Amino acid sequence: MKVSVIGAGLAGCEAALQLAKSGVEVVLYEMRPGKQTPAHTSGLPAELVCSNSLRSDLLHNAPGLLKEELRRCGSFLMKAADKCKIPAGGALAVDRDEFSKTVLEMLSSNKLIKLVNEEVSEIPDGKVIIAAGPLASKAITDVITDLTGSDSLYFYDAIAPVVDFESINMDKAFFQNRYETEEGAAADYLNCPFTKEEYFDFVKELKAGERVSTRDFEKEIHFQGCMPVEAIADSGEMSLAFGPMKPVGLIDPRTNSSSFAVVQLRMENLAGTAWNLVGFQTKLTYSEQKRIFRMIPGLEKAEFVRLGSMHRNTFINGPTVLDKRLQLRTMDRIMFAGQITGIEGYIESIASGYLAGKLMTGIDVLPPLDTALGAVLRYSTDTITDNYQPSNINYGLFPPLKKKPRGGRRARREAQANRALESLGKWLADLDVLSFSK
Ligand SMILES: Cc1cc2nc3c(=O)[nH]c(=O)nc-3n(C[C@H](O)[C@H](O)[C@H](O)COP(=O)(O)OP(=O)(O)OC[C@H]3O[C@@H](n4cnc5c(N)ncnc54)[C@H](O)[C@@H]3O)c2cc1C
Repeated sequence: MKVSVIGAGLAGCEAALQLAKSGVEVVLYEMRPGKQTPAHTSGLPAELVCSNSLRSDLLHNAPGLLKEELRRCGSFLMKAADKCKIPAGGALAVDRDEFSKTVLEMLSSNKLIKLVNEEVSEIPDGKVIIAAGPLASKAITDVITDLTGSDSLYFYDAIAPVVDFESINMDKAFFQNRYETEEGAAADYLNCPFTKEEYFDFVKELKAGERVSTRDFEKEIHFQGCMPVEAIADSGEMSLAFGPMKPVGLIDPRTNSSSFAVVQLRMENLAGTAWNLVGFQTKLTYSEQKRIFRMIPGLEKAEFVRLGSMHRNTFINGPTVLDKRLQLRTMDRIMFAGQITGIEGYIESIASGYLAGKLMTGIDVLPPLDTALGAVLRYSTDTITDNYQPSNINYGLFPPLKKKPRGGRRARREAQANRALESLGKWLADLDVLSFSK
């Protein structure tokens, strides 16, 4: 078998190396340095385009668990990251040049991998993995549009923050759907009610909050009807109260009256452990989001499962167009991997590349759902939502524990991590029997 991989980014390099490990010949296409993306600066593979951190290395944080699973699975890029590690407390940060050079050495020393520096504008024959990333070139994006339909391809993400349900103060927040006041009716929304004074204090802080600067190639986002919440606040003192924070149709059961304004939260996962702030896509910095969104009545002690962001991001609606093995439903010789499937983050992209490489070799047992690898695969292939948005790995994507241990949130996360590593061990043992993980 011979496989063409499009894009020598994080996912493409991991997929190529895993395929070669299984004895498969790979042609790995990379358009840089001949053609750059708006964020990459080198011609090296696996370039980290922004931060040099692969986030937490601690098991009670989901990115830490995902990294540990990848280590145990023999991920090549994790090996490179650990080799190029620089001090960063509980996080795994790397020397980005050394990291890319290490990956390049892994690729070039592998006789089964041919690295071709060319832009792909047509899908090659045979088996293909498309790992062209969030900044995929126009030529390949046009091809993907033909393959998936324009309804299933998005060009930016507008992510609203997500909070852990258990950290919401239910003495203030209340369940209710707009205009639905009958008692006992199931409500899909959680509402955080504001007094007039609380509202104006909140708007003042939103307007003053520090923002992430918008890159030139991201400016289009605001013109597509998707305004950051702070930009809506800039447009007028009452804009939010008439927009995403409008209180109409909602009656606070405690006061039996309407509030001045309301922030609504909608369930983010089926387990109901994570809730997103509806309409709160934002370009505030992470620290400002935590400070300002904790001013929302009921969210004073909010734990954020994910913070908001808005940036250019080409991604397909994975769950609609991909099957459970990352194959295009309409043409199973083509797989997608990396951020383009609708996952978000360096480490998640490496994980997706690992999965694509392994699945392409024909393994028929998918990683268990209670592992971080299983959660990444499931998110991009099997999420039920009418608003598919990229997601980082987080414990909200894992099935809940059958029995909650004592000791609070951290103890729970550790129990989930232990369960995941045990399941992963069994999965790898099964693969070994089938001699696929060698
Ligand atoms: C501006 C920006 C900043 C980000 N910052 C962070 C961060 O700090 N931390 C984090 O965890 N995540 C971050 N991300 C998200 C994401 O984790 C990275 O983009 C990650 O590199 C995605 O991995 P990937 O393998 O899917 O894509 P990439 O690593 O981008 O790899 C895709 C490769 O495909 C190549 N390519 C594109 N089109 C073609 C074509 N037609 N033919 C051949 N090659 C092609 C590209 O040149 C690129 O090398 C950021 C994303 C962006 C856009």
